[in-house]
Amino acid sequence: MQFITTYKAYNQPSPRSIFRHYALNALSLVKAPSAESLKQKRIVFTCFHSYFTDNEATLRAQLEFMGKHFKFISYSEGVRRLTTGEIDDNYICFSADDGYKNFLDACKVFDDYGIKALVFANPKVIGETNYETLKFYNDDRLSHGPMEFLSWQEVDDLLTRGHEVGNHTYGHRNVGNCSEEELQEQIVKSYEILQKHVGSDIHFAWPYGSPNDISQKALDLIYKTGHISAAAVDRHSHYTRLELVKERSYLIREQIEPFYPVNHVRYFLAKDHSVINR
Ligand SMILES: [Zn+2]
Repeated sequence: MQFITTYKAYNQPSPRSIFRHYALNALSLVKAPSAESLKQKRIVFTCFHSYFTDNEATLRAQLEFMGKHFKFISYSEGVRRLTTGEIDDNYICFSADDGYKNFLDACKVFDDYGIKALVFANPKVIGETNYETLKFYNDDRLSHGPMEFLSWQEVDDLLTRGHEVGNHTYGHRNVGNCSEEELQEQIVKSYEILQKHVGSDIHFAWPYGSPNDISQKALDLIYKTGHISAAAVDRHSHYTRLELVKERSYLIREQIEPFYPVNHVRYFLAKDHSVINR
């Protein structure tokens, strides 16, 4: 009965991940984007999953680098600016998926930089402590070993400290292939449970994150329920205004995990991504 609490235990390098690491090292050297490309006015919504304390030096190095080129804002402020078009500087905000307990450790680091982050959680496992249940859920829904999730008390504490909590579906289901009844549970019931703690201004990020993992029906229900934004994951920065609710569009978060070396982060953020808006 042991939960994963270190990156060393979490990360099992595969030939593919090792190749990717060295390919990115080479790319960031050979195709290094210019410093100018870092200066473009935009909003970057970042997304990570887990933070482990043996990644502290890397996370701090990332934040030092980002702090030189971007202004740190909260996720809600990022969404507000995205919908009003106030993209008058380089902004970056932080979100984490899946509601792991290790988000609390990430926030200890974020606190040193004045960063308010958002965690997308799944109410089904908030406060769940049964080892076998957590082992099965982590394996079945998240494809890794047993890890712990936030408790409701910790959710409330995070909110008191100015961090944010969003909806990542009730039980980490792929809302691209849910029945009508399942969508009600994954989107609406989840919203209603979170609302009791968070209030009505709730952001949504769908599990697995690609456009294939969402349907138009699910997206319509997300906004009809009252969510103020919906989010995908891809390599992307936002340079122009997005009508999130009215046009049923979604924002795109850039995946930057706390263990990414700074040269990779620099490469991703400097690269001028094409604007892919629905
Ligand atoms: Zn997830």
